[in-house]
Amino acid sequence: MLENIRIVLVNTSHTGNIGSTARAMKTMGLSNLVLVDPVSPPDGHASALAAGAGDVLASAKQVSTLAEAIQGCGLVVGTSARSRTLPWPMLEPRECGVKLVSEVRQYPVALVFGRENNGLSNEELQQCHFHVCIPANPEYSSLNLAAAVQTLCYEVRMAHLGQNQHVDAPLPYPLVDDLEAFYSHLEQTLLKTNFIKPQHPGMVMAKLRRIFNRARPDEQEFNILRGILASIEKSIKAKD
Ligand code: SAH
Repeated sequence: MLENIRIVLVNTSHTGNIGSTARAMKTMGLSNLVLVDPVSPPDGHASALAAGAGDVLASAKQVSTLAEAIQGCGLVVGTSARSRTLPWPMLEPRECGVKLVSEVRQYPVALVFGRENNGLSNEELQQCHFHVCIPANPEYSSLNLAAAVQTLCYEVRMAHLGQNQHVDAPLPYPLVDDLEAFYSHLEQTLLKTNFIKPQHPGMVMAKLRRIFNRARPDEQEFNILRGILASIEKSIKAKD
């Protein structure tokens, strides 16, 4: 199961961090590394720091956007060292490990890490269901990228080792691909009803994403939401 937990590094600058990440992952039993648009691809420096985890490094997938990296996932958790302008549903590192290990039984899941210099962008963070912050020293809370990967992968391992064999499977949630399609359908509909003004879109879509992330509709509830949008669309068309 742990191989379906994707560790996603976004736009990493230092190849050494990519190698150290591979090592951090392998020591905790993880192997699925995805690199989104790395500043330079893994090199000799990365291999040296990966040490015995050269296999994880060699099998790392490279893609150009975060959307591609999280395709097919049912749970995406973004990491952040600081709170952002729009607060998001949060997980403690321990809860994050438990949630990833429990939901990976249903679909692939992803844990997303940001750039060394400025983390993940707001747009990237809004593609995540939850955010996780390692509660470090408030006066100096920014860990080295690979150290943050190590800490959160350790929590994944602890959750995996402590897993109760008899826990019920969690409810299935929609995959990110379906969620993204829903968000663009919702936006199109709200533009048609003039709720969103194209000249002043504001933060409406970001805030709606936050509501749906907080409520986390399961697949059945999500189908109701899709049905509602389809019915609005139908009644707009009937009036045209
Ligand atoms: N200056 C950046 C910090 C980037 S540190 C900023 O303000 O966002 C590089 C990456 O390591 C972060 O994007 C995050 O993925 C991870 N990281 C570092 N410290 C962390 C912490 N305390 N909690 C969670 N992730 C952290």
